[in-house]
Amino acid sequence: MAKKTKRARTVRREADREQEKLAATARRLHALEPGGAPEHPLSVPTPSVVEIDATSRPCGACGGETKLGDHEVEEHETGRLRVVRVICKLCRAEWRWFYRIAAPN
Ligand SMILES: [Zn+2]
Repeated sequence: MAKKTKRARTVRREADREQEKLAATARRLHALEPGGAPEHPLSVPTPSVVEIDATSRPCGACGGETKLGDHEVEEHETGRLRVVRVICKLCRAEWRWFYRIAAPN
């Protein structure tokens, strides 16, 4: 009996580690995506579409739906950016999407 419990715990621990590894990989991939980092923001014509766009993107970790966290304007080296934080409804992971409002011309 004791042996069985130990084995179950070990399996769970390994699963947690695996989950952490996957999450770390998902973060790295997210940062490489367009809009995933301030170095390469997504370009949109108007601020009004930013939140709609960000929440339409699935969670990078589990593919779940995301909901709006907050929406801020930040100054970055690449200019003034809109930063939208979304939270996964399934796994609660947080993701940040970066947008540049394209100047009308
Ligand atoms: Zn998720």
